[in-house]
Amino acid sequence: MTLSPSTGGHSVSAQIVWAAAVLAVCLAVVVVVSVSWAMERIDDRALAEQRQTITASLFEARARMAADQAATMVSIGEITSETDELDRRLTTALGHDRAYILTPEGKVLRASVEGRFAGKVFTLADSFVLQPIIDRLRLRIARAAFDDPSLRFNDAAGLLALRTVGFADSGQGFVSIRPIGGTASKLSDEHLLISIKLIDQTMLHDIGKQFGIANLRRVSHPTSAGWVPVTNHDGDILTYLVWTPSKPAQALLGEVAPALAVMLLMVGLAMAALLLWLRRTSLTMEASRAHATYFALHDPLTGLANRALFETRLKQAKDYEFLAETKVLLISVDIDRFKEINDSWGHAAGDQLLREIAKRLMIEMPEEATVARLGGDEFAIIHPGILSEGQARWICQRLIQYVRPPLTIGSERIDVTLSLGAALVKGNEVTPEEILRRADVALYCAKLAGRDGFALYDPEMDREKRERRTLEIELRNALLTGEGLHLVYQPIYGSLSGKIAGAEALIRWMHPARGLLSPDYFIALAEECDIIDPLGEWVLREACQFAVSSNLPRIAVNVSPVQFQNARLAERILTILTETGLAPDRLEVEITEGVLLQNSPQMQETLRTLRQAGVSIALDDFGTGYASISYLRSYAVDKLKIDKSYSQLVGADPAVGHIVRLMIETARALGMRVTAEGVENEDQRRKLTDMGCTYLQGYLFARPLAPEDLRDALSRDLSQKLA
Ligand code: C2E
Ligand code: MG
Ligand code: MG
Repeated sequence: MTLSPSTGGHSVSAQIVWAAAVLAVCLAVVVVVSVSWAMERIDDRALAEQRQTITASLFEARARMAADQAATMVSIGEITSETDELDRRLTTALGHDRAYILTPEGKVLRASVEGRFAGKVFTLADSFVLQPIIDRLRLRIARAAFDDPSLRFNDAAGLLALRTVGFADSGQGFVSIRPIGGTASKLSDEHLLISIKLIDQTMLHDIGKQFGIANLRRVSHPTSAGWVPVTNHDGDILTYLVWTPSKPAQALLGEVAPALAVMLLMVGLAMAALLLWLRRTSLTMEASRAHATYFALHDPLTGLANRALFETRLKQAKDYEFLAETKVLLISVDIDRFKEINDSWGHAAGDQLLREIAKRLMIEMPEEATVARLGGDEFAIIHPGILSEGQARWICQRLIQYVRPPLTIGSERIDVTLSLGAALVKGNEVTPEEILRRADVALYCAKLAGRDGFALYDPEMDREKRERRTLEIELRNALLTGEGLHLVYQPIYGSLSGKIAGAEALIRWMHPARGLLSPDYFIALAEECDIIDPLGEWVLREACQFAVSSNLPRIAVNVSPVQFQNARLAERILTILTETGLAPDRLEVEITEGVLLQNSPQMQETLRTLRQAGVSIALDDFGTGYASISYLRSYAVDKLKIDKSYSQLVGADPAVGHIVRLMIETARALGMRVTAEGVENEDQRRKLTDMGCTYLQGYLFARPLAPEDLRDALSRDLSQKLA
C-alpha cells in the first residue's frame, strides 16, 4: 500500500561502478597491448641491428684477409732465397688458418696449416673448391697482362679474389688469393698467395665478444629468430649463423618489473579505492534520491500516500477497472470531532491520533488498496476490485467498527468515530475528480446524518447539498441584514409559585420562500458552515437587550458546543453583558452534554470564568446524551434541565418516573436546581412538582412567545402578585 525508501535492484550506482570497472579494464588492456607492441618493435629493431652487425663483421673479417696478405707479402722478395723468413711469415705473421704459395705451374711451393709449417711441396687441399677460383684469377691476370705487358701487380690493379666458400671437410671459410708481386718478370708468371680463414667457433666467439652477441654459432637450419645466412659468390646459402637475440625491451622490463609491479599495485589500489568511493557516493546519492521520492509521494506524519500519489493511484485504478469487470470504491474519511480533540489535547496528541487512525485504516484495508492522507484529518481510500454495492457497504461498515475502540493517547483514552463518504464507479464512467467529488458529497451527508456512520453516493445527494448551500448563503445574508431572524421567548415558571422565573430565548428564521424554519434544522447548518459564532452572538445580544428592557428575572440562552471551541467565548459573552448593561446573574447559559464531553481544559476555563462573573450554567436536554449523573459531580453546573422526552413520560411510564425522581434527587443533593422542560399536561406538572422540580417549562404554561406577548405575560404576573 505504501512504499518505504529503498534503493532499486539494478541501481544506477551499480551501473556506474560497472562502467568504471569496464573502463579501467579497457584502459589496462590498451596499456598492456601498446606497451608490448612497443617492446616488440624495440626488440625487432635490436635484432635487425644485430643481424647487420654480424654481416658487417663477417664482411670486414674477409676484407681484412686481403689487407693482411698485402702487409705480409709486400717485402717477400725472392721466394726461393728467403725460405725460412717466408715460412715464418706464412705461419705466424699472416695468422690465417691455412696459407699456400702456389707456383705459376700450379704446384704448392709452401704451405702452412693451422699456424704450422707443413713442408715444402704439397698438394692443394680443397682444390675442388679453390681450383676454379684460381683459374678465374689466372685468366683475369693473363688478360690484364695481355692488355698491358708492362703491368705489375699492385693493389690498385685489383687482381685478387676474395670469396666465401664451403669446404668439404672443414666447414665454411673465406678465401683470399692474390699474386705475390715482384717474384716474376711477367705478371702472368707470378706465384699466388692463397689464404683461408675458417668461419669457426673462434672467429664467431671473437665477433660475439666484440659486439655483445650471445651464443653466436653455425647451424644448418635456423630455429631461433636471430639468424643470418652465409652465402657464397653465387648466392648459395652455405650455412646459417644463429645467436640468442638480445631483447633490450624485455631486459629493461625485467629490470623495472618489481618497481613496475609495485606501481601497478598502487594504481590498482587507487583505482579500487576510487571505485569504492564512487560506489559509496552514488549509493548515498541514490538513497537520498529514493528518500526524496518517498517524501514527495508520502505523508511524513503517517507514512501514508500523499495527495500526489493518491491521484496517480486513483487514475491507475480507474484505468484498470475499465478493463476488469469490477468497480473502484473511493472512500473519503473524516475523523469526527477532530478539531475539538486537537484544540483540547494539543497538537502532539492530535498528531498521535492521526498516526493511530492511519495505522488502523492500513491494517483493515487489503494490500491492493491505497490509503492516503490528503491533509489535516482528511483521509481517502482507493479500494479496487469491488463487485457490488453490498460489498462496498460492508467494507465501510467494517472500517467504522474497526476504528471505534477507544484510543489511548498518552495517559488518556479518547473515543474516536469516523464519518465515511463512499463512491462506487466503473473505470470509464467519470473522471478522478468526479469520483472524489462524489465521495465528498457522500461524506457531507454522512456528517449531516449525525456522524459515526457512512453514506454511499447517490445522485439525490447532489440536490440536497445544493439546497443546503443555497440555504447557507441565505442564512449568512439574513444574519448580515437581520431580516427574517428573530427570537421568541418561552417562559420558565417556578413550580410552587407558578410565577415566571425566567424565559428561554429560542431563535426563529422566517424564510422568504420556505416559511418559518425550526432551529433544529438551521442551527446544525450554522454549525457546519462556521456561522454559529456570529449567529450565537446575535442571539445573545438580542436576548440581553430584551431582558434589560423588561423585568424578566432571568434570560436563558442556548450556546452550541461548537461555540465552546472558541477560546474567546467567555470574553465575548461578558463583553455583550457589559455592552447591553444586563447584570450577569440575570443570564443563564444553556449547554448540552456535547459541551461537557469535550472535557477540555479550555472548556472548563470558559465555564469557570462565566460562573465567577455570576452567569449561571444550565445543562440542557439532560438524559438524552452520554452524561450520567455521576458525570455531574465533576462539573460545576447550576441547573439541570430534564429533557422533554422524560417529562412527557413521567405520568405514563413508572420506570421513567423512577429515573426522573433519581435525577432530581441527585441534582438537588449536588446543590443544583432542576427544570423540567416539555411539560404538556396537569398530571406531568403535579408529578414533577411533587418530585421536587424547581422550575417547569412547557406548552402547558406557555409556548415560545413573541417579545410583546412575554411582556404581557410578565405584567399579568406582576398584577397577580400585586393583587
Ligand atoms: P431546547 O433548548 O431544548 O429548547 C426547547 C425546545 O423544546 C424548543 O424547541 C421549544 O419550542 C420546545 N418545547 C418547549 N416546550 C415544549 C412542550 O411542551 N412540548 C414540546 N413538544 N416542545 C416544547 P425549538 O424552539 O424548536 O428549539 C429546538 C432546539 O434548538 C432547542 O432545544 C435548542 O437546543 C436549539 N436552539 C433554539 N434556539 C437556539 C439558539 O438561539 N442557539 C442555539 N445554539 N440553539 C438554539
Ligand atoms: Mg434550551
Ligand atoms: Mg432542551
